Parts: sequence; structure tokens; C-alpha cells
Amino acid sequence: MTAVVSLENVTFAYGEQPAVRDVSLTVDQGDFLGLIGPNGSGKTTLLHLMLGLHSPDSGSIELFGEPASAFSEGERIGYVSQQATSRGETMPVTVREVVTMGRFAHSGHNRLTEADHDIVTDALETVGITALADRQITQLSGGQRQRAFIARALASEADLLALDEPTVGVDAESRDEFYRLLDSLNDSGITIILIEHDIGVVTDRANRIACLNTELYHHGDTESFVESDALTEAYGTTGHVVEHHH
Ligand code: ADP
Repeated sequence: MTAVVSLENVTFAYGEQPAVRDVSLTVDQGDFLGLIGPNGSGKTTLLHLMLGLHSPDSGSIELFGEPASAFSEGERIGYVSQQATSRGETMPVTVREVVTMGRFAHSGHNRLTEADHDIVTDALETVGITALADRQITQLSGGQRQRAFIARALASEADLLALDEPTVGVDAESRDEFYRLLDSLNDSGITIILIEHDIGVVTDRANRIACLNTELYHHGDTESFVESDALTEAYGTTGHVVEHHH
């Protein structure tokens, strides 16, 4: 089986000091990978490398079996960045239009069929924003907007969903609901990569963990991570450690 993402000995620096050093890992289809590490440990940088948004200084990256630099099927990837809450601020588009763009990306033509529009409607329903379909995207709360971007990824039939701290600024109840949505998307076969600072949330759902502090301290299944010392090693004894429950 071809890995969804595969990195071999990847190093990347913005300036002199590497933000990510000598990272090798694979994400398989259907995985739920939790990407954790202290603030500034390189998580967002690593995610950008995994999605082909940065080129590594050394090492190699493959997306769906192709060199990431040559990867051209962007519609297979749904990315909800940390900026998703403010994206599109100047564009007067409705939620349904945003999700419809995902369907255009999938179909590759400039005309959509009735069936395509049904898929858009289903995507809105799946993420629970049917009632918001005709609102301007800018009128949505941060959490609702993230759902809209996930619906767009569903409409484009993305196989991989990457989320960078998607519930920052979202209240506890909506957060639980959001994570139930992610669980059900993962159950339906979508591969998920999640950056999340609450380690308990991650270890409760991810089957794989990558624990980073510039270098990888752990990459493997969640059970062996919980039993290892990777967490305290990566976070040091600086009090950043969030207790994990299981
Ligand atoms: P995390 O997501 O774990 O908080 P980042 O990947 O955002 O970590 O950052 C890793 C390191 O790279 C930090 O030291 C950060 O200051 C630096 N960094 C991140 N983005 C940039 C950038 N665009 N230019 C220069 N340095 C950056």
C-alpha cells in the first residue's frame, strides 16, 4: 500500500537553525496522526513540509507516492490552517459557494451536475452547517468557518485532512462536537493529521503519534507513545506537559 505521506531524513531551516531536523515518518491511509510538541517545536513547519508547502533543505518527501514538489492533485488534500478563521475576509462569498468550489476542484470542469450539487448539500449536512449555507463566510464564527473548510474538503473528496490547532478559541462543547466529527470522518476512511496542544485529546483519538521538538522524539502507535518517556523528553521539565488520560 502506498503511504499518504512519507518523509525521509527531512531537514528544513528558515534561517541558520533548523526548525525541523532529520525527520523520517510515514502516514498510512486511514491513519489519525496526532502531531504534538511544545510551542515553537516545528509542528506547523513539519505539517507544511508534509503537504508540500515547503521544500526541504535535505531529505525527501512523497505525497500519495509522488515527490511532493511534483504533486498536482491538491483537491485530495483538505488543509485547515491556523489562519482558517480569518481566511477569505475580503471575498464576498457564501458558505455554499465555498463548499461548491471544492466540488469544482474535484470535478475539474466548469459545470456541475445535479449530483454534484447534492454532494455539496450532503457535505454541508455532514459538518452540521446546513442552516448557515446562504450566509457570507465572513459572518461565521471561527469554529463554523472551520467546518465550512472541512465541508469544502469533503466536497472535493479529499483523502487527507490536515488541521493545525483547529479548536483554538472554540468553546468546550463545540470542541467536543468538532472532535466527534473528526472521529466519524476518520471512521469513513479519511486520513487525518492533527496538531493539537491538548495531549489528552490527541491520545484519545489518534492511532499514531509524532512527538516533535525540532527532532522527532516518537513516531509510532499511540499506545507505545503513552508508555514511553518521549513526552517528557520532548517537552523537557518546563511544566508544559499536559497530563494525558487513557
Ligand atoms: P510550532 O508549530 O510547533 O509552534 P513552528 O513550526 O511554527 O512551531 O515554528 C518552528 C520554529 O520556526 C520557531 O522557532 C519559529 O519561530 C520558526 N519559524 C516559523 N515560521 C517561520 C518563518 N516564516 N520565518 C522564520 N522563522 C519561522
